[in-house]
Formats: sequence, structure tokens, C-alpha cells
Amino acid sequence: MTTNMTALITGANKGIGFATARQLGSLGMTVLVGARDAERGRAAERKLRDGGADARFVPLDVTDAESVAAAAKLVEAEYDRLDVLVNNAGILLADGAQGLPSETTVATLRRLYETNVFAVAAVTNALLPSLRRAPAARIVNVSSEVGSIAVMTDPNGALFGLTSVPYPSSKAALNMLTAMYAKELRDTPIKVNAANPGYCATDLNGNSGFRTAEQGAEVSVQLATLPADGPSGLLWGFQMDAGG
Ligand code: NDP
Repeated sequence: MTTNMTALITGANKGIGFATARQLGSLGMTVLVGARDAERGRAAERKLRDGGADARFVPLDVTDAESVAAAAKLVEAEYDRLDVLVNNAGILLADGAQGLPSETTVATLRRLYETNVFAVAAVTNALLPSLRRAPAARIVNVSSEVGSIAVMTDPNGALFGLTSVPYPSSKAALNMLTAMYAKELRDTPIKVNAANPGYCATDLNGNSGFRTAEQGAEVSVQLATLPADGPSGLLWGFQMDAGG
């Protein structure tokens, strides 16, 4: 099956991003495989094509302004419109994962925020002109329930013991970014939502998650294919307390 829809997924060379590209490709979308490393990006492109997807590697380091501008230019020149943007690239620094707030350096926060927050704004703004040209574009920001202040401060919740500040606060900022983009774009057909993939076994967490990358990607795909009456501005997806 083919559609004339195009999706760009950042950090698509492995993990949840790769699985998202595979699933969107299997729906017939042309998938632009954003990756900062050409070798890893081309390898992912090959694997997706071998699986039958119309995939194309697009060089994209989301923290590099020139790289972001070049990717946006490529989309505009060769595809004109963009139907789906999945801001999936994200990092979890081992040295900043466990640190108490009082032990966290500003340098660690900056590094996390560069990728998990600032880059999402940069990529989204660069691609918005192409997204606006699509009949009903969808923006998916891959976030986490650790970015929910309500979840993290619930004394009866499963995540109450987690006190680390860098990664959770970066995802909290991403959730707010998502809500504000959704508000700005509420009178357009564009929907903007944050995905919570759940705890998935990927390189990000030393493959310790109890869900698969494919399962995590299903949340992004659901939000990337929302109907016209679907939600916008929500953190959506796997709920730890909902069993599983
Ligand atoms: P992985 O580490 O497997 O994949 C992360 C991807 O992001 C890689 O492709 C990596 O590329 C890419 N990336 C990192 N920095 C950049 C950059 N500057 N420019 C371009 N690409 C970059 O992790 P996951 O698949 O688990 O993570 C995907 C998303 O899901 C992240 O946003 C993460 O925070 C989120 N998430 C993950 C959960 C989990 O349990 N796994 C739970 C909740 C949210 P490279 O190979 O070059 O490093």
C-alpha cells in the first residue's frame, strides 16, 4: 500500500524511532529517516527498504542549527509538504540520571535540554512551513510520564521514589512545549501531542525496559495518524498505573 504522505522521524536509526519509521512505512507513508550519523542512517534506510518501506535517510543532528535548516530545505524542495513530524530523538545521560537535584550540574541540565527540549522547538519551527502545507499534519513529541509533575509527586505512585531532575524536567518542559504549540495551532488542522511510550528496552536505558521498542512506537504511530476529531495538546499513551 502506498499513500502520498510523508513522515519525518528524528533519531530514527534505532530504538523507538526506528520502530516508528517501520510502522509508518508499513502504513504506506514515505518515511524520512532522520539520523545524525550517516552510516547508521543509511543502515536503517536499507533495513526499512528491505522490509518494503519507502524509506530515505535524511542527515539530521537535531542540536545542529545548520543540519536542521538543511533537512527542512530538503523536505521543502523535494516533498513540498510534510504530513507527520515525530520529534523522537532524545537522550538520557548516565551521569545525570540518578543525581539528586542538589547534585545536578547546570552543564548536565544544558546537555539534556539541548536535545530533549531546545532541539524540538528548533526542528518544529523549521518544519512548520511544510507541515502547514499538508492537509492535516500531525506533530508527535516523544515524551515520558516522568515529565508529568502530577505522576512524579504522587506519594502513592510508582515513580515517587525517583528524584532525578535532568531527564524528568526536560520531558516536563517538552510537555509544556507540546501544549503551547497545540494552543497556537488550535485553529489549524495540525494536531500536536506528546507520546508516552512506556518503559521500553532500548539503548537509552541499557535495554532494561519491560516493553519493546515496537510497542513504544505504537503510541507515536497512533498520534501520527489521529483523525480530525482527535485530541491535541495531550500527553498520551502507556500508563504505568493502568496495568502492564
Ligand atoms: P535510543 O537511545 O535507542 O535512541 C535514541 C535515538 O535518538 C537514536 O537514534 C540517537 O541517535 C538519536 N539522537 C540522540 N541525539 C540526537 C541528535 N542530537 N540528533 C539526532 N538524533 C539524535 O532511545 P529510545 O528509542 O528509547 O528513545 C527514543 C525517545 O523515546 C527519546 O526521546 C526518549 O527520551 C523517549 N522515551 C524512551 C523511553 C524508554 O523507555 N526507552 C521511555 C520514555 C520516553 P544515535 O544512534 O546517533 O545516538
